[in-house]
Amino acid sequence: MTQHFDFFEEAALPAPEITPTQAAEYVQATYGINGVVTELGSQQDANFLVDADDARYVLKVSNAAFTRDDLEAQDLAAAHVARLEPDIHVPVAIPGPGGSTVQPIALEGRPTYARLVTFVAGDVLSDSSSYLAPEIVAALGDLAARTSRALAGLAGQVPPRSLQWDLRNAAEVVTRLADFVAVPGGPDAVLLAARTAAKALAPYAGTLPLQVIHGDLTDDNVIAAVDADGRRRPVGVIDFGDLAESWSIAELAVTSTSLLHHSPDPSTILPAIVAYDRIRPISDDELAALGPLVVLRAAALAVSGQQQAQVDRDNRYATENLAREWAIFERATSVPLEVLTELIRASVRPPRERRTADGSALLWIAQDRPVVPAMLDLSTTSIDLHDGLFLVEGAEAAAALKQDGSVAVAVPYLQPRLTRTRLNSFEAPASIGLGVEVFAVQDLEVRAPWAGVIERHDDAVALKGPEGMTLWLTGANVSAEGAVDAGEVLGRLAAQASLRVQVSDLDTRPPFFVPASLAAAWAESCPDPTGLINPAAVPTRAASREALLDRRDNAFATVQEHYFREPPQIERGWQNHLFDTEGRSYLDMVNNVSILGHGHPRLAAAIERQWRLLNTNSRFHYRAVVEFSERLAALLPEPLDTVFLVNSGTEAVDLALRLAWANTGRRDIVAVREAYHGWSDATDAVSTSVADNPNALDSRPSWVHTVAAPNAYRGQYRGPDADRYGEDAVASINKLAEAGHPPAAFLSESFYGNAGGMALPDGYLQAVYAAVRRAGGLCIADEVQVGYGRLGNHFWGFEQQGVVPDVVTVAKAMGNGHPLGAVITTAAIAEGYRSQGYFFSSAGGSPVSCVAGTVVLNVLRDEQLQENARLVGDHLRNRLLELADRHPIIGAVHGMGLYVGVELVRDRSTLEPAPAETAAICERMRELGVIMQPTSDRLCVLKIKPPLGITIADADFFADALDRVLTEGW
Ligand code: PMP
Repeated sequence: MTQHFDFFEEAALPAPEITPTQAAEYVQATYGINGVVTELGSQQDANFLVDADDARYVLKVSNAAFTRDDLEAQDLAAAHVARLEPDIHVPVAIPGPGGSTVQPIALEGRPTYARLVTFVAGDVLSDSSSYLAPEIVAALGDLAARTSRALAGLAGQVPPRSLQWDLRNAAEVVTRLADFVAVPGGPDAVLLAARTAAKALAPYAGTLPLQVIHGDLTDDNVIAAVDADGRRRPVGVIDFGDLAESWSIAELAVTSTSLLHHSPDPSTILPAIVAYDRIRPISDDELAALGPLVVLRAAALAVSGQQQAQVDRDNRYATENLAREWAIFERATSVPLEVLTELIRASVRPPRERRTADGSALLWIAQDRPVVPAMLDLSTTSIDLHDGLFLVEGAEAAAALKQDGSVAVAVPYLQPRLTRTRLNSFEAPASIGLGVEVFAVQDLEVRAPWAGVIERHDDAVALKGPEGMTLWLTGANVSAEGAVDAGEVLGRLAAQASLRVQVSDLDTRPPFFVPASLAAAWAESCPDPTGLINPAAVPTRAASREALLDRRDNAFATVQEHYFREPPQIERGWQNHLFDTEGRSYLDMVNNVSILGHGHPRLAAAIERQWRLLNTNSRFHYRAVVEFSERLAALLPEPLDTVFLVNSGTEAVDLALRLAWANTGRRDIVAVREAYHGWSDATDAVSTSVADNPNALDSRPSWVHTVAAPNAYRGQYRGPDADRYGEDAVASINKLAEAGHPPAAFLSESFYGNAGGMALPDGYLQAVYAAVRRAGGLCIADEVQVGYGRLGNHFWGFEQQGVVPDVVTVAKAMGNGHPLGAVITTAAIAEGYRSQGYFFSSAGGSPVSCVAGTVVLNVLRDEQLQENARLVGDHLRNRLLELADRHPIIGAVHGMGLYVGVELVRDRSTLEPAPAETAAICERMRELGVIMQPTSDRLCVLKIKPPLGITIADADFFADALDRVLTEGW
């Protein structure tokens, strides 16, 4: 009878000793294949890459402990997966002499076997940078499910083995090997974790379904190929060396555990579980077992790695993995097992009813009157946190004490607190309180809600109560000791102090604040204690982001798209930052509208004041419209001194075209390709950006004539040849005139915003404007995006070109988000509109709009924002140029001041654009706390146009985030 491998008989398995030269000779002798042989890493085997002329192979010299039967079963399993799941690439074993795929190899010691298998092209997924996007995590779960589904058909065809890696043995493995753990406190930690997990698993252990599993379907054994978006996606599975019958769900546990070294947040594994469940539905028992199995796998990995490193000190692969395996263990146990289990359960099952805790009243004032605190709102939408108050030290207490008439106020259970946000942080904050926090306005008495025994823990007091529930109080002066009765006085809460009230049925003290990704899972172990301070309270659940998104899609035309795949619910802006309803901050690097930043108090106050005074239309006579028009006109060179006020960029450009038509009596317009000027009929006609409208070029009316986008980076003329764009445009204009269609106007952005923030070639507008004027047309500069100080060196884009247009359009920045647009032109051109009737816009030039516009100009001046755009813009540009030195995907850094474009390419010589990569990079930037979007017709340019007040620290945070994404992957 064949001797099957039993780990418990043979715990130490050093890898076979064989050199690459010996391996090469063996491959030649056994298979007749010549190739260059290099060593690959393995824990217990010796693996070599064989690079032959026609193909690549892997020679696998198995650990002497494994039998021929085992190895043949592995080859059978791989072939079986290949047949049932042709999309999954697996190594195919090559038969050797006698037809078997398993061949003897003469090494010292016991009989040893070798196999030659085909090399699966690609790299192992764990090689990739340390970041795995949720889609990739899901793809791994999907792969595990498909592999498992295929292997289920091999029942009875795999010899029995008792493997170290079989999770049925994990608790035993940990017990035996714990002492190998060299980390201080490590042996106790692994033993405790394994014991707790084994106990939680015990009720299911006897009945979980069994099947043949791969058993080591980790990121180390999954082959990935680079996809169109530059992400590495799983395509294959290798190394069937741990193939055995075990719990079916162990496959997913192993895969999930391996993901934990990619991120400190245990919720990282959830997309894999969701994807697995879709292919191979997870039963309730399996779901309950999965958390314990993840912990057991993590503990078994940690102890086995440490043991292997000690018995086989030369095995570099084993030693290098130690830190990674320990990180996996720490992350698997970073939350209590109950929380991990609930996190996993909730990913594929409906949310649970929220648990509540009952007891007698906790807080009292003298005369035996229980206190019911008023509720204090510290959420993102709180009206008590305007003007950046939430960032001030002591903001929570200050907001609490501002509330009139209450003896105490309380922050609701699970309310995400904006006061816990962190600016410019790669991680989401621990913003959610797992209990109620009470701020006392006057001295209060604290009484026991239930009978129990007082225990002291650091800064908290615990009172164990009914049904394993513990009350945790932090912040009160508790004088009571030992056993107390329900209603007994425990101590006092001093005026101005805060008390955190938390109940939990966990054995250990829970944190008070947790990040949103883990809050619901923690809440299952930390019920709502509101009933202890307000028996009449009705638990409420805030509407979810997802539910609101559904409502949006139902009511708001979805052709008005949103920025992100999973859009955060943004409900507040402050200066250069946006905040979602979970209290996470985002640096706003895309908002060219809010040049002053968000929530500017001067603007808010002025608008409120004017709104209370008067808001009407410009047919009335009032000061604001006069002052604002004078201020605007003063910003422009002579002879541009006459202002029209409208409500948007579209309206401004539309009106500019009307002025050109009215003044010249002509219809034809020359515009620059790849531009966007608005959505109305006329402005859409002159917009040819295919990023906004894929059919833009085919649907032009006959009066629109376009000239090439003067793109000196990737257009027809590049570098020093870019002068020729101007020559070609002049020739087109001359030809139109000669053909009897002299243009009414030439329209362009004066700095090419929509193409990614590129300067026009030197002299371009001088040449083109001269030609247009010779032909009797007008020159319109669209300054909607690039004007108003954003370029730093210039207030208007046309200054950079040394020209003065006839008509200038402005919007976006001029109202800092309040709908405001303007056309500024000469008195004569303005007068020319009369042939069309008179001009009126109901809200254009309203008192509120004019006040908004004036305050924007005042703040721009007083806060020296144009100068800031120049200084920070230069710094940012230097940082980005330095990134371009290290990251080949950055083809160019365009722009000036705070209009910057980072163009991403697949190849610096062909300039092949990288749009899919750009989109994926923007998604990852959002996870890291930066709002960024693609632009240009090729959607491969990061459009960087933040509020003009961003700081050097903000610019650095952005550059650091981009560096991190380009380094770790996306
Ligand atoms: N012109 C340019 C150059 C623009 O970028 C835009 C908006 N992106 C517009 C006009 C239209 O402005 P609005 O969206 O305010 O109508």
